[in-house]
Amino acid sequence: MALRTTGLSHDETLQALDDLKAHDVRWREGRAFTLTYHGGDDVVALAEQAYQRFSTENALNTEAFPSLRTIQAEVVDIALGWLDGPPGSAGFMTSGGTESILLAVKGSRERGRKERNITTPNIVLPTSAHAAFEKGCYYFGVESRRISVRDDWRADPDAMADAVDDNTVLIVGSAPQYPQGVIDPIEAIAAIALDRGISCHVDACMGGVILPYLARLGHAVPPWNFAVDGVTSMSVDLHKFGYTAKGASVIAYRTKQLRAYQTYVTDNWLGGVYGSSGILGTKSGGSMGAAWAVMNYLGDEGYLRLAASARRAAEELVAGVQARKMLSLRALPDTCLVTFGAAEDSGLDVFAVADALWRRGWFVDKQGPPASLHLTVNAVHDGKIPAFLADLDASIAEVIASAAADPATMGSYGTVE
Ligand SMILES: *Cc1c(COP(=O)(O)O)cnc(C)c1O
Repeated sequence: MALRTTGLSHDETLQALDDLKAHDVRWREGRAFTLTYHGGDDVVALAEQAYQRFSTENALNTEAFPSLRTIQAEVVDIALGWLDGPPGSAGFMTSGGTESILLAVKGSRERGRKERNITTPNIVLPTSAHAAFEKGCYYFGVESRRISVRDDWRADPDAMADAVDDNTVLIVGSAPQYPQGVIDPIEAIAAIALDRGISCHVDACMGGVILPYLARLGHAVPPWNFAVDGVTSMSVDLHKFGYTAKGASVIAYRTKQLRAYQTYVTDNWLGGVYGSSGILGTKSGGSMGAAWAVMNYLGDEGYLRLAASARRAAEELVAGVQARKMLSLRALPDTCLVTFGAAEDSGLDVFAVADALWRRGWFVDKQGPPASLHLTVNAVHDGKIPAFLADLDASIAEVIASAAADPATMGSYGTVE
């Protein structure tokens, strides 16, 4: 579309945007099991107001905006508290989990180059580690060595140790990993890193905020953070279970020295000394202000309450999946990620089930291998699971009926557009 000659009015503009949203998933009603997290209308309203206050402010140079320097420092400190960051640990706010992970890959490559003269770096990671690591390897010229997970979907430390060589700069575990929602054996992975003197990143994009609260609620949480010797960096997304506005994550390091490998400074242009903490140049203060606001508004008690709600809903969903003969739960979730596929020999096309759910207004993720549905359960889903399960049953029945009418569609990916 071409830019209109005469602009719309304020009201027309906002109305046009609202019209565009007409067919979007209704996440405020708990209809999205991916992409959005909802800690309550009051939380969203506050995040939006805080975002407004800083949307034009720029964290590229905090000399001009000491407010953003303070906001970043305080947000990172709170995150380090969740991660059991030891004295001397440090971090930066980033735009999201992907940027945090890109920086961990870049920082470890830089560390390998400077401390060990490595020119053909590789990283060793389980097949379950997030796609952002693959992106980082692609961006920064690092070889990705993917090692199969065990039967319980957790990383296999022995096989990972075998894949480490003199050019390995980073070894990775997740707490939890995204696809099946289980926590990798972080102690064993970090022990390899300690033994070989390499960096170890724990991706807690999903678990970094909620795990401390699940532990306090009495759930068994295996060692997963900086309390484990050998873990050198961690990522935690605030725009997930931190329930803040999009564009907020933290990359944390055990020491400032490790953190220094991620930053970039140059004066090789006509614009003077240019330094940046992460990938971005101009960095919106909006997502930073919103994160600070939501964290201070919810406080420890708010996060404990939201963690209890999210976990209650996840457990209800798990029980619902286990009770349905056509479905097979992939793993008991260590947090609130629930993944299931078709029960063996059921012949059910779960991707077609996902499409049928979407026609009923529910959005879930399709993933594989193996073909599975992935649901990120959060506080908004507390109380919504019975309605979801009813529509899940209707969707399964619909898929079975249409497969009976046209057997050629069984188990095919043909319904995925
Ligand atoms: C969401 C997620 C990421 C990527 O984060 P984005 O904010 O989507 O860029 C990485 N790792 C895990 C485990 C995640 O859940």
